[in-house]
Amino acid sequence: MKFISQFLLWGTRVTNMSRPPGIRAESGIAMRLPFLSRILRVVAVTTVVAAGMASQAVPPADAAPAALPAGQETTIPTEPTVGLAESLFQLPPASYPALIRQEKPVPGWRVETDGRILGVIGSTWELVGSAGYSGRPLDVLIAVSPGGRIVGAQLMRHAEPVLTLGISDAAIASYVQGFRGYDIHRPDKGTGAPDVISRATVTTGVIRDGILRTARILAGAQGQNGVIDRVSYAPASWAELEGMGALVHARVSMADAAAAMPTARPEILPSDGPWFEMWTGILDTPTVGANLLGQQQLTKVAADLQPGEALLGIFSRGLQSHRGTEYRRAGRFDRIAITQDDTRLVPASDAYISIPRLAIEGAPELKERSVFRFNADPATGGIDLTRPFNVTITTTRAGPDGATLALPISAEVTLPDAFRVVAPEPELPLWQRFWIEKRPQIAVVGAMLAVLGLILFGQEWLVRRPLLWRRLRLGYLTATLLVLGWGLNAQLSIVQVIAFLHALVFGFQWETFLIAPLIFVLWSAVALGMLFWGRGVFCGWLCPFGALQELTNAIAQRLGVRQIAVPQALHERLWVIKYTLFVALVALSFYSMEKALVMAEVEPFKTAISMHFVRPWPFVLFVAILLGAGLFIERFYCRYLCPLGAGLALPAKLKIFDWLKRRPQCGRECRLCETKCPVGAIDPLGRINPNECVLCLRCQVIMNDPGTCPVLKRRTRGGDRIPPLPTAPATPAAPPPIIPSQVPAGAHDGVASAPPPAFQSRQVKP
Ligand code: SF4
Ligand code: SF4
Repeated sequence: MKFISQFLLWGTRVTNMSRPPGIRAESGIAMRLPFLSRILRVVAVTTVVAAGMASQAVPPADAAPAALPAGQETTIPTEPTVGLAESLFQLPPASYPALIRQEKPVPGWRVETDGRILGVIGSTWELVGSAGYSGRPLDVLIAVSPGGRIVGAQLMRHAEPVLTLGISDAAIASYVQGFRGYDIHRPDKGTGAPDVISRATVTTGVIRDGILRTARILAGAQGQNGVIDRVSYAPASWAELEGMGALVHARVSMADAAAAMPTARPEILPSDGPWFEMWTGILDTPTVGANLLGQQQLTKVAADLQPGEALLGIFSRGLQSHRGTEYRRAGRFDRIAITQDDTRLVPASDAYISIPRLAIEGAPELKERSVFRFNADPATGGIDLTRPFNVTITTTRAGPDGATLALPISAEVTLPDAFRVVAPEPELPLWQRFWIEKRPQIAVVGAMLAVLGLILFGQEWLVRRPLLWRRLRLGYLTATLLVLGWGLNAQLSIVQVIAFLHALVFGFQWETFLIAPLIFVLWSAVALGMLFWGRGVFCGWLCPFGALQELTNAIAQRLGVRQIAVPQALHERLWVIKYTLFVALVALSFYSMEKALVMAEVEPFKTAISMHFVRPWPFVLFVAILLGAGLFIERFYCRYLCPLGAGLALPAKLKIFDWLKRRPQCGRECRLCETKCPVGAIDPLGRINPNECVLCLRCQVIMNDPGTCPVLKRRTRGGDRIPPLPTAPATPAAPPPIIPSQVPAGAHDGVASAPPPAFQSRQVKP
């Protein structure tokens, strides 16, 4: 709030900055529009009050808590309801799944039904802090299955200007739902997920980024860091599973056992028959699990899997049992050990599932078929499935004197490469991907900015070549309209200024602004350029709608359309409209962003530039009226209505250099430039108002053209009857009467009645 109040009050102060002492209160906007200064002050106070009220207001139940301070917002992810969980997991109505809040391994809500884990719901705001274009939370709840598939997504809250972006809330909701079915482990990352919606690139880009990053976190938390491919399935026989290493075989014959335990009682009779023979492997992947057990049995077995657990299958035959009978009493299978380095796991009896029969073809005749759940999360003391581990069955036989002889039989299990998914590489942040994708467009904008830099730095050279200036200007404006505007959709807007102010207040994130590279580059250039040249860098050269107005007016003048000269007094009072619009928009945005963004429709940019006039007729009619008015009053919209132009004008006095020159005779003996200025930025006294000047250089061309500038004309004719004035004095004498022939038709009708104060622009000797 402090920032906003300072910003707006500063807007009122700049009118008095840089003025010579003595004329401080009587020059510039403050002099000509004394009430504007008061309005700015009043609205500044209103802004602070409105913002303060907004921060205390209780939002409606279905509204985003948009006015909460950023610090509070970080702790409030949207909580899913049972109904929402049903909807996300596409369960029949009244399924009433259990929603269990979990903090580990990642915060979210585990969803279970009939003791079966369906997946986890997570919030993009909670897990990745996704903030929208408005700087406010953009919260999407995502349901991810244990296999890493997004089974549902729903946008829960946002404060995005979707209405003003030309797309509806329903369109955004349907965009979010388009992520349903996306497999987070698919190798072609990102493809298959809905692409961003043009016209809402930033908002939908943030949503997309938030959903994919959150889903990856949830999938990783459920799927042993995404090591096992829990999605792919291919039919396979027993022999094929053995061949690919999914089943590991270990066998000890009776002869081997007899040799290993010669003192066994009763004695082991050597033969080729199996003392103990087993096949073991990880069953989680569908190609192994579903082929071995059948899909139905696998689903049943996997139902009790907890996050971080995996399934181990042990199938055996021979004289010895891998289960034994002691587990019923001891509650654990002491014969079985799953080991890796110093980790040794002994399956508990409640982690055991007996398999009555196998579904796979070609299985050998087996005596025992078991599946065990085991801890496969290294972070909690489990087995790391990315590395080999051992499954050891300790077979026993009585020895002499009541001793027990043990013969451990081990198989080394390694997850075959075919069933591993490459751990998702950290992806480039979305904004970086956009910068890479848009390199050609950025190069085009960079080239245009470079040309503009040359024009502005070389303006003294250029303004002495009227024809070249004229062609260059028309060519540049045409490129601005066709390339920047209609081609690249790089029209800056008051909405971005509002978004920036909100980001400063509610939490600034560079990523939010970097996500639109062209807009970012343009705003950076405009911000820098304003220090050198003021708002004219943008308004005079880079604004597509400004270019459209100037080009259409140029055509109109060419066709002989008579221009209307607005009386100076009225002209200056009409400026109030755009400044009021700007301040009202900023103030309203802190009360209701939605309302402010609807009000921002006063900007015709979206209709004329972004949407190429393809909008409902009232919008098109509004633009047509503005452009029509611009045929008779050049840059009509820029002069009186544009809130963005007003916003850019406020810091105009910050510019370090004064590039535009004036002659002492300007405003006294000649008012030609005043009549030719496209925005009426030159007052009857010949002074240039930097808040209004769009730096078109037209006045500079005129004053340097011996064929146009009356002062130079007279000098060329040798009729140097005008006494040369070295420079304008700080309080010059009253100007001589204006010679009517020097004031073309359409000029302002006012005559300077007061001694002009010191010139604001640099002066050249006549
Ligand atoms: S005043 Fe508004 S419309 Fe005109 S050039 Fe500036 S930003 Fe564009
Ligand atoms: S004519 Fe001169 S004062 Fe007017 S906008 Fe162009 S450069 Fe600025």
